[in-house]
Amino acid sequence: MLDSLSLFSLAGKRALVTGSSRGIGYAIAAALASAGASVIINGRDQEALGAAAAKLADTGATVRALAFDVTSADSIGEAVDWAETELGPIDILVNNAGMQHRVPLEDFPLDRFEQVMSTNVTSVFMVGQAVARRMIPRCTGKIINICSVMSNVARPSIAPYAASKAAVANLTRGMATDWAKHGLNINGIAPGYIRTELNEALLQNAEFNSWVERRTPMGRWAEPAELGGAAIFLASEAASFVNGHILYVDGAFTATV
Ligand code: NAP
Repeated sequence: MLDSLSLFSLAGKRALVTGSSRGIGYAIAAALASAGASVIINGRDQEALGAAAAKLADTGATVRALAFDVTSADSIGEAVDWAETELGPIDILVNNAGMQHRVPLEDFPLDRFEQVMSTNVTSVFMVGQAVARRMIPRCTGKIINICSVMSNVARPSIAPYAASKAAVANLTRGMATDWAKHGLNINGIAPGYIRTELNEALLQNAEFNSWVERRTPMGRWAEPAELGGAAIFLASEAASFVNGHILYVDGAFTATV
């Protein structure tokens, strides 16, 4: 029998984290590496990705950079093939890449709506399917999809984002419904307000900052690293019977009116 700390060990595991050149993805990759996993980080900007890989390697992590666009089926296919052939099985997939676009709904352009859906939802389907097709014959694998408090509620000017994150939450439940029988665990993490580049405009806005601090019972934004523990848990044996669950890491935001 494993002792309780060993249950959280990711030694010998390989993780692919999409959208991990900065922000939440980078912090999750760093956390998985600190628990013993070798990590493959991803983004579109090669230079930023290389710099992130070097920074992570400096902490002692075993890291590879794999640039591809999560909205391109061809690029995903090539990247997953390359990783599985050259590096070995992907044991853990974190579907984290995502985008935001803020415009009042009556003015929201269709092409931007489609870009939000493709980056935030279709990517989870495509990368998830490409990796799950490898995991299913192995009868094991962990998939973590990054949802949001906006999976449950909406805010002015981000209706397409809220729709996309609600879809990711239910796609997570659907993946568990179809793939749990093959030995896969598929869960979601729903962050509240986290200090990242995605929220740069909001962080610069004093009125919005004070709204976040009042609306979040913990009274503050979170740092990206505060998502690391949830990711390690869901990627590990400690969560062996946790499946189709959305874990809120939101300072009680969704617990409160
Ligand atoms: P971020 O700081 O903007 O980072 C986004 C990352 O995704 C970057 O590494 C970016 O690199 C990559 N990316 C974007 N589009 C991509 C694409 N098409 N293909 C591959 N990589 C792509 O965002 P974040 O705040 O860390 O958010 C990460 C995830 O958490 C998102 O799914 C977001 O919706 C979710 N989330 C964030 C918050 C929050 O408060 N920050 C709250 C709830 C949920 P490149 O630009 O180089 O591609």
